Amino acid sequence: MATFIVLMGAPGAGKGTQAKLLQEKLDLPQVATGDLFRANLKNQTELGKLANSYMEKGALVPDEVTVAMLKDRLAQPDCAKGAILDGFPRNIVQADALDHLLTETFNSTIAIVPHIHVDVEVLVDRLQKRAEIEGRADDNEATIRHRMQVYEEATAPLLAYYAARGLLVEIDGDRPIEEVQADLLQRIAQATS
Ligand code: ADP
Repeated sequence: MATFIVLMGAPGAGKGTQAKLLQEKLDLPQVATGDLFRANLKNQTELGKLANSYMEKGALVPDEVTVAMLKDRLAQPDCAKGAILDGFPRNIVQADALDHLLTETFNSTIAIVPHIHVDVEVLVDRLQKRAEIEGRADDNEATIRHRMQVYEEATAPLLAYYAARGLLVEIDGDRPIEEVQADLLQRIAQATS
């Protein structure tokens, strides 16, 4: 059966970093909706331009757009054996859409939902540093604050949703990258064995 891992964590928690490392070790593609939107923007597609009007404010891109894009991505052959989802789902509507998609298309379900937890002060500090290094357009102070608020309101409720299904695993994200990675690998191995 295909293995779908949903990585959860606030902006700056290290989802992207960990997902990239996991994709090599687990031989599963990282599917990051934020990266897909940024790639579209770079290529100046209609989808990219539309998404950017939300991203630059730190708001969520509308569900219909995001779900359709994710569906297309998961239909690619490299996702046949599963994927590491990073940045999706971000609200309950998206979580429901994912469940349906996995059941109908893959005859599968989510294997595990690791939540990389980091205190909010550490998060803000990390995002400000990332802004200096990478110059990502949405890493400015006002947008960061709004992304945190969106996370608390729309995305954090998913933690209880997945905990109730026995899928949530807490990972302490305020440790060196390698330690977080080792913890993730161990918990994923337990959940998929
Ligand atoms: P971060 O996790 O640091 O906030 P991402 O790269 O995951 O960064 O996302 C950047 C932006 O892309 C979000 O603020 C949002 O505008 C948009 N986005 C990404 N994933 C989704 C999603 N699942 N639903 C709606 N919008 C999304």
